Amino acid sequence: MQEFIKKIRNNEIDIVEHTHKVINECKKINKEYNYFNVISEDLALQQAKELHKKIKNNDKNIKNKKLLGVMVSVKDGICVKNVESTAGSKILRGYKPLFDATVIKKVKDAGGIIIGKTSQDEFGFGSFNVNVGLGFEIPKNPFDKQRSCGGSSGGAAGLSQVAEFPHIALGESTGGSIVEPASFCGVFGLCPTYGRISRYGLIDYANSLDKVGPLGKSLQAVALLLETISGFDRNESTTINKPIDNYTDFINKKIKNMKIGIIKEAFVDIDKKIDKKINEGVDKLEEIGVKTEEISLKLPIKHGLATYYILATSEASTNLAKYCGMRYGVSDKLEGNFNEYFTKVRSDNFGPEAKRRIILGTFARMSGYRDAYYIKATKIRTKIVDEYKKMFKKYDALISPTSPILPIKFSEIEKLSPLQHYMMDIMTVSPNVAGLPHLNVPVGFVGKSPVGMLITADHLEESKLIQLGSVFDSQ
Ligand code: GLN
Repeated sequence: MQEFIKKIRNNEIDIVEHTHKVINECKKINKEYNYFNVISEDLALQQAKELHKKIKNNDKNIKNKKLLGVMVSVKDGICVKNVESTAGSKILRGYKPLFDATVIKKVKDAGGIIIGKTSQDEFGFGSFNVNVGLGFEIPKNPFDKQRSCGGSSGGAAGLSQVAEFPHIALGESTGGSIVEPASFCGVFGLCPTYGRISRYGLIDYANSLDKVGPLGKSLQAVALLLETISGFDRNESTTINKPIDNYTDFINKKIKNMKIGIIKEAFVDIDKKIDKKINEGVDKLEEIGVKTEEISLKLPIKHGLATYYILATSEASTNLAKYCGMRYGVSDKLEGNFNEYFTKVRSDNFGPEAKRRIILGTFARMSGYRDAYYIKATKIRTKIVDEYKKMFKKYDALISPTSPILPIKFSEIEKLSPLQHYMMDIMTVSPNVAGLPHLNVPVGFVGKSPVGMLITADHLEESKLIQLGSVFDSQ
């Protein structure tokens, strides 16, 4: 990627021509795999032309642009000015934000070109990107079109695998939506510490859990985007005001005295072929001198899922309350009283999983049930954080598979009940509940299906993830 950026800077590659080519390629890719909800052709060309002018005029700021000419795809739930941003939901059809999310502003300032909005489960509600909003297409796995890309950032992960042009994706995770699709598509995906990257301009799923983060075919690219978009934002009160590491410096940095815990409980109910691949990944780390030990992480594995789904649906149900066809969301013909009108708009425009989550979340925080569910979940959340914190006193990072299953066939997903669907998130929900940074690294294939290993580190230790993960970066 660095080579490519240099060539763009020196005008050895014409940025406008390159952008034209990429747009055509994206259109082809989309026909085959459905990775985009929107290809932002006009914006990409406008950006390319502006940059071209600056390159030609030897503008002094060009040399500081870390992402110059790199194509950045954006999960649909992240607002891009003047580009339809729906979070994959019919209820937001036609919404063109009047502003850029902070991460988009940073990407544009760094010379990155916004190529389009990628497919996702409606508002992020899902693990396989099949819960797309009414009228949206389901993305297909790059290695086998009968299988899922993972979700909810499925389009981001699939595109990262198939794009032959320099590209990095912006995804979002509430409970695993960066690492899990990255695992299914055989790419790197890094979910940062909660608050490391601004959520300003992200269409909320669950505010106390949502994180924006990068996905890419190379970890170098992921680190580059991470260092571009991290940091305090005065528009976003949960961002952390602490220095940002130069994450790219940690690629292939020599590892000294690192100790890793292998989470015993995470290997109990998984496919033996996945187990074997993860063990090979662990061997690779041992070969470069990382010490490993088996550890037990009881609470997060046992109660992570229940805690997560109570918190996530509670917050989601309040966030979705605003889409009633008046100030937010599509509007309909004004008929009946306001109750009838709101009900009609919401019934016609939310998909079945969004409705399920509204009902679940509303129930969990209803008076009479609040103490038993929502409040209890917040308490268990604190205990989950404590158990991780204890581990990080002894270990630099923890390891598990990213998913208990290989990329699943669409025909198999249809047979899952909603609860079985939720249970597939067993490995990823707890680091999210605890706000911990975590990274998916591709560790090989079982047949045609990629396998991902999950590395989790302590808060703000993204650089350790990059250092460890770069052992698996062949690009
Ligand atoms: N699969 C999880 C859910 O459905 C996580 C999704 C996400 O991280 N956006 O809630």
